[in-house]
Amino acid sequence: MFAATEGRTESSPGRPSGRGGKFYRRAGERRGMRDVCIVGGGVSGLAASIFTARAGLDTFVISEGPRPSSSRTQSGDDGGESILARNASLENYPGFPDGVDARQYLRLVREQAQNAGATFELGRVARAEPVAESDLEQGFVLETEGGDPLEARRVIAASWPDSDYLEPLDVGRVQRGSKHFVSVDDGGRTAVNGVYAAGRIAGEPHQAIVAAGHGAKVGLAVIHDSDVSFYHDWVTPEGYFTGRGREVPPGCEEIDEEERKRRDERARETILEAFAEPLDEEPTMHPSVADSSDE
Ligand SMILES: Cc1cc2nc3c(=O)[nH]c(=O)nc-3n(C[C@H](O)[C@H](O)[C@H](O)COP(=O)(O)OP(=O)(O)OC[C@H]3O[C@@H](n4cnc5c(N)ncnc54)[C@H](O)[C@@H]3O)c2cc1C
Repeated sequence: MFAATEGRTESSPGRPSGRGGKFYRRAGERRGMRDVCIVGGGVSGLAASIFTARAGLDTFVISEGPRPSSSRTQSGDDGGESILARNASLENYPGFPDGVDARQYLRLVREQAQNAGATFELGRVARAEPVAESDLEQGFVLETEGGDPLEARRVIAASWPDSDYLEPLDVGRVQRGSKHFVSVDDGGRTAVNGVYAAGRIAGEPHQAIVAAGHGAKVGLAVIHDSDVSFYHDWVTPEGYFTGRGREVPPGCEEIDEEERKRRDERARETILEAFAEPLDEEPTMHPSVADSSDE
């Protein structure tokens, strides 16, 4: 059983509903208490959101948008801007034998997170504090620059390179050079119950696949701590569990051959469409280079 969550209002268009999380709410539609708010819609934050949303947790991702110098500002893509948008050719991410356009990869991950049921908003988080100092179970309030505050029971900081907004929570930050990293345990948990950190900001190596894997791991820790009934996020052929007289464990799904072929067809269509033409977006330049060329 997946956890029941409030406020799922609309099926994702063109997508079948089925698992917990196959619904989305438009950003800004309602600002109640979320199960989890992820600060940073880059590589690790998006990976975390796919797992928490698929497990049925009401998952909200808030992320800073592209800088004015980014070609994505013109293209109108409304996702946050990962530092990976600066990459020229992503060639060490498993699954792409000759590499992949990093911006196309990010688009596809955003689409995957949305299909899973995560909702998104562009914005910068400026401050995080508990709803009630004496009871962290009541969750956290995130103040945003120029927007309404957000509330969530759990917060994942996936916001490389910024963690200043966590200062009021005293999560345990370590300064290395000009940057602050957040100290975490093996599941990305900080010193404050309910606050997690994922990706580069948690001190992980500066590689996309590592950030994605860490985001997934932190998402799983959040699911575990949320008491959602969960075994693994697995899709298996029909009979894999039931053929052995077992119930399909929570988080798993058995699909028959017809459904497997239908999903495979949809997956191929999505990928073929995404890569039919080159993406008309350039790598985002380092701010100091971009700013000096504006002068
Ligand atoms: C030029 C360049 C080339 C690279 N090339 C490669 C490569 O070839 N292969 C490879 O594996 N890795 C590469 N990387 C590294 C890779 O991009 C990072 O390791 C990875 O993106 C880290 O993921 P992350 O989720 O920690 O951070 P990010 O993906 O950067 O995500 C952080 C997100 O948090 C948002 N954010 C920050 N502060 C706030 C705030 N206060 N409120 C809201 N949102 C906030 C940011 O806007 C961003 O969306 C490259 C990096 C650079 C800079």
